[in-house]
Amino acid sequence: MAQETIFSKIIRREIPADILYQDELVTAFRDIHPRAPTHILIVPNRLVATVDDVTEADELALGRLFTVAARLAREQGIASDGYRLIVNCREHGGQEVYHLHMHLLGGRPLGAMVARG
Ligand code: AMP
Repeated sequence: MAQETIFSKIIRREIPADILYQDELVTAFRDIHPRAPTHILIVPNRLVATVDDVTEADELALGRLFTVAARLAREQGIASDGYRLIVNCREHGGQEVYHLHMHLLGGRPLGAMVARG
């Protein structure tokens, strides 16, 4: 059983966050340390620690991450210029919070996809 993170408390509204969207499957809130003018995290409500822990039971919620990302990008006015969606997995992916989440980043050109090693 995966350990809960701060994201579960945000989803249950036990600690404050700037929540922009929530439904029965996913929650979206602003990243506390934004790396771009728009930086939103979209997370499945059910705790899935990493992409490596994903099963078929998660397919509906993980599909919802994309529809909510597209909707929020339009609402935030960044859809026509474009944006980046990132899901980090474990240490080499740079994952800090072990509750799977999609980053929605935009509002400026985001540069190279991956920093040179
Ligand atoms: P990752 O490195 O992919 O695991 O990303 C974790 C992200 O969560 C980072 O961009 C953090 O800034 C963000 N974060 C951590 N704690 C909070 C919080 N309480 N509210 C909003 N964002 C957070």
